[in-house]
Amino acid sequence: MTLGTGVGGGIVAEGKLLHGVAGAAGELGHITVDFDQPVPCTCGKKGCLETVASATGIVNLTRRYADEYAGEAELKKLIDNGEDVTAKTVFDLAKEGDELALIVYRNFSRYLGIACANIGSILNPSTIVIGGGVSAAGPFLLEGIQKVYDENTFPQVRTSTKLALATLGNDAGVIGAASLVLQ
Ligand SMILES: [Zn+2]
Repeated sequence: MTLGTGVGGGIVAEGKLLHGVAGAAGELGHITVDFDQPVPCTCGKKGCLETVASATGIVNLTRRYADEYAGEAELKKLIDNGEDVTAKTVFDLAKEGDELALIVYRNFSRYLGIACANIGSILNPSTIVIGGGVSAAGPFLLEGIQKVYDENTFPQVRTSTKLALATLGNDAGVIGAASLVLQ
């Protein structure tokens, strides 16, 4: 799963990339997860994972919770001052304990953790790998997702399907494309 400007995905089963009947298998970004305040996605429907878990989605969430938030958090001040807030800003502030950033972080984790739990229950893969620019937040990002994942998977899946951060960085796309050609 790639958390970048959007949310991308690919499913490798028994060593092969799944294509689906129309080439759309593994479009994990368009799993519906937001039933609370679903916003339109680039795909034409609402409430997609991409609208709450991509870099853009995290900024969407930040604006949503900033509207409801009345405390003194640094993130709230940045939003109110019209500063350029990115996913990195949110995760950096959440790591420091910023109250609003933590609200965004917990909700981001809830959406993505639920998506991973559902993917785990459908496919029971060995690993769900999370990469893309947003995953630069590192183990902190994984911690939040793991907690929700553990609460929402049944024991066989929870103990056998692991969550992990991607390690190939920007080379992942090229390596994936090359391996498809080799197949
Ligand atoms: Zn969508």
